[in-house]
Amino acid sequence: MRARKRFGQNFLTDESVIQRIVDALNPGEADRVFEIGPGHGALTALLEPLPALYRAVELDRDLLPFLRARFPAADFISGDVLKLNLAEVLDEGRPWRVVGNLPYNISSPLLALFTNFVDAHPDRVRDLHVMLQREMAERLAAAPGTKAWGRLSIMVQLHFAVEHLFDVAPESFSPAPKVWSSVVRLIPREPPALDTALLDRILRMAFAGRRKRLSNSLKAFAIDWQACGLDPSVRADNVSAEEFVRLTEHVAAQADES
Ligand code: SAM
Repeated sequence: MRARKRFGQNFLTDESVIQRIVDALNPGEADRVFEIGPGHGALTALLEPLPALYRAVELDRDLLPFLRARFPAADFISGDVLKLNLAEVLDEGRPWRVVGNLPYNISSPLLALFTNFVDAHPDRVRDLHVMLQREMAERLAAAPGTKAWGRLSIMVQLHFAVEHLFDVAPESFSPAPKVWSSVVRLIPREPPALDTALLDRILRMAFAGRRKRLSNSLKAFAIDWQACGLDPSVRADNVSAEEFVRLTEHVAAQADES
């Protein structure tokens, strides 16, 4: 199998891993599935008989004739997932199930794209099952008080319930990547209504000095810690997503008053 590095091509060759992803997705006959980067169709093949609607986007044009011939009932889009009009592709109707062994170089922009998409279209996506670098999966699914807890964990967990399903060894791919991977499940949820730019600013300041007292990292804001129900000597590492939301609401309310 010829692999193109610039397309982030690491093809899954371990059948047991592919089966575990399909089992985790557990597609029903009436489901609509959208795959990102089908490659040679390793996942697609195990999804057969394909659900009611199986749609996929593949950037490598050379793979498309082969994919279309192998899976004639499927709808393959030739292109870059980051440039799609997602509202058109993941159209109204039964919510889409999204799956993909993602090219690692686009994981972050892809997560941002889907976060914005599910916010704008809350009923279009039922869930996502995606393979990511293990380190990133750990950050997405992290809990407060752990090393992996940070801005990314909070931003993503406000929009999705995140489950770290299992880890995948480099040898399960051809060519083998340098790092371990993990499969995660993301289920969209309604985010709190708040000024996300302000939250992002607060998180950047808080985690820039993650071992510092929060009152010190956030001294640019006049915070009434008692009113927020927070101990000012706490460190960012130990502050939950809900507490950061409360802090952001508090800072926003103060800005409105002044
Ligand atoms: N699903 C296959 C498998 O598990 O063997 C391939 C996985 S490989 C890690 C990533 C796939 O995504 C490749 O087929 C690659 O060509 C495709 N790809 C890379 N960037 C893409 C993009 N921006 N949009 C759509 N597909 C992309």
